Amino acid sequence: MPVVAGRSAAELRIAGLSRFSTVDWPGRLVATVFLQGCPWDCRYCHNPDLIDPRGRGSTPWEAVAAFLGERRGLLDGVVFSGGEPTMQRALPDAVARTRGLGFDVGLHTGGAYPHMLDAVLPALSWIGLDVKAGADDYARVTGRGPSGRAALRSLDLVLAAQRERAASRHPLGVEVRTTVHPDLIDDTRLGDLGELLADRGVRRWAIQRFRATGSRCGEPESPPLRLDRLPRERFERVEVR
Ligand code: SF4
Repeated sequence: MPVVAGRSAAELRIAGLSRFSTVDWPGRLVATVFLQGCPWDCRYCHNPDLIDPRGRGSTPWEAVAAFLGERRGLLDGVVFSGGEPTMQRALPDAVARTRGLGFDVGLHTGGAYPHMLDAVLPALSWIGLDVKAGADDYARVTGRGPSGRAALRSLDLVLAAQRERAASRHPLGVEVRTTVHPDLIDDTRLGDLGELLADRGVRRWAIQRFRATGSRCGEPESPPLRLDRLPRERFERVEVR
């Protein structure tokens, strides 16, 4: 397992706790811990208050741990979300402590920090990985320079772990998803992204249409994508939400 110089879960900057969710980990009843900070600045972000990496957080880890202690046997798992949860060095300790309480652990990530992701992957049971665009188009979406290389490195790590653990007692569930904002990606680029994902070994792909409600940007200027260039035949399942 890769070594990351970590910090105590007590140092985790937690922006919020959702005590009960049926949507954050498909098919599971979970609590979701939202971590502060993200290196990216996606125009369509639905959690812009969580982007500031200097934000201190509002909920101490001790309160989260106490809550989870009371929910043993009542929840199926715990999801760490954000923001970008792999931005915080206290994540591995928090994941280990959560598992120690008896919960399976899931993670939402954009894959901005492959080294940290690699460090926590062995402890995860499920991961929702956002792949936002082809590598050359990432900056258009994230507003932060050449961010695509990190995301695709993370994708490769996740798919390798999924393959390695497929027949084990601790398989890794994976959902690769792409949010489509019509001003940021078109049908041709989305089709090319689908080919890239299939080439790398993704078998299930979730496409999430952008919804302005709750985001900081208004309605797109461009018309909705037609989704007519998706290489559907190359996936076991393509789900459009
Ligand atoms: S990676 Fe996620 S949390 Fe970060 S800015 Fe983009 S949408 Fe928001």
